Amino acid sequence: MNLALVGVGQAGGKVMEAIMAYDRRAEVGFVEDAVAVNTARADLLGLETTPLDRRVLIGGARLKGHGTGADNELGADVASDDLGEVMRVVEDVATHEIDAFLVIAGLGGGTGSGGAPVVARELRRRYAEPVYGLGILPSRTEGNIYALNAARSFVTFVDQVDNLLLFDNDAWREGGESLRTGSDRLNEELARRLGVLFSAGEVKDGQAVGESVVDASEIINTLGSGGVSSLGYAATAVDRPKPRLFARKRPAPDVGDSTNRILSAVRRAALGRLTLPCELAGVERALLVAAGPPEYLDRRGIERSRRWIEEQTGSMEVRGGDYPIESDYVAAVVLLSGLADLPRIEELKGIAVETRQRMRELEADADAPEELRDLTWSGDADTDDETLEPLL
Ligand code: GDP
Repeated sequence: MNLALVGVGQAGGKVMEAIMAYDRRAEVGFVEDAVAVNTARADLLGLETTPLDRRVLIGGARLKGHGTGADNELGADVASDDLGEVMRVVEDVATHEIDAFLVIAGLGGGTGSGGAPVVARELRRRYAEPVYGLGILPSRTEGNIYALNAARSFVTFVDQVDNLLLFDNDAWREGGESLRTGSDRLNEELARRLGVLFSAGEVKDGQAVGESVVDASEIINTLGSGGVSSLGYAATAVDRPKPRLFARKRPAPDVGDSTNRILSAVRRAALGRLTLPCELAGVERALLVAAGPPEYLDRRGIERSRRWIEEQTGSMEVRGGDYPIESDYVAAVVLLSGLADLPRIEELKGIAVETRQRMRELEADADAPEELRDLTWSGDADTDDETLEPLL
């Protein structure tokens, strides 16, 4: 499935480059083009592989390249003001070659949090291809302002995209590891999951064709129109027997083993750590991809896995297929879409409402320290505290 990536803000740019790195390593070429958008000049310069003519500085006149300081209303404002600059670069993307756009951003900060929904809305207005979002939720240790930003960005972003894939930094934090030191590892984990999913169906020259390859339309149909998705992944090493002398093919692995290996990988992918933790019972649609050496991609294994996901989710819309690659692993990716219950989002919304209330109290409290009162809430003072108004 061919994608144009648009990374907004620092996390957006870094995760975008991690996906590009996966695509290059795997030699697939599902990334057709990539554009980085930021208000911080230093972050744009810090990118490594995005071509210079695909890096767009927005808000330059107002922010002088210094970023938004985690103010997502400012992020949304400057993105709206400079949308023309962004779209001029996107116009150079060979859009007739792509199946979809993927707009990527960290939702807890300022530029990506505020800017990504603005960019997504405009892409959807201008292009017929689906526009998907990839949103990164802040970790609990980042504090309440990040939770507030993420909650507001989420309610806005989810409305502006055809589907919003979520990755929760909090679920992926390892003990003792700061977000800064761990972010490269997280980005790689995320890129691997998306990489296997989007590579599926991109058959390379000279590569074996799978028995039931996943094509772009199956991914698009699973993502559907609207809602939130999560991804699971698991892999098992296989000890591939060496081809015998003068034999043209490797000896075939045991069929029963291959069936069980796929089923076990799919179960681990769906029941293990998901990009956004969620209950399988609330899943509307799903897609499983089994990737690995063609002789290990047993059709019965995929069919049994598909039925197992149907049982677990109660969904009648579960697709499955394979993705043959030369590798020493059999991997499974499970895309869970149309999620009904989002406990982490509810938690972020709860923190957001409390934080906003606390900010109002501080504003009104003449005895509060100056620096706390300066954290003014610029939202509409008359809005009901039980609701969270979107950014746009
Ligand atoms: P922006 O540049 O204003 O959009 O803000 P950042 O992208 O720097 O930060 C927004 C949020 O993204 C942070 O609160 C983190 O939760 C997250 N974040 C920042 N950098 C990374 C990264 O490299 N990987 C991941 N997974 N998350 C990141």
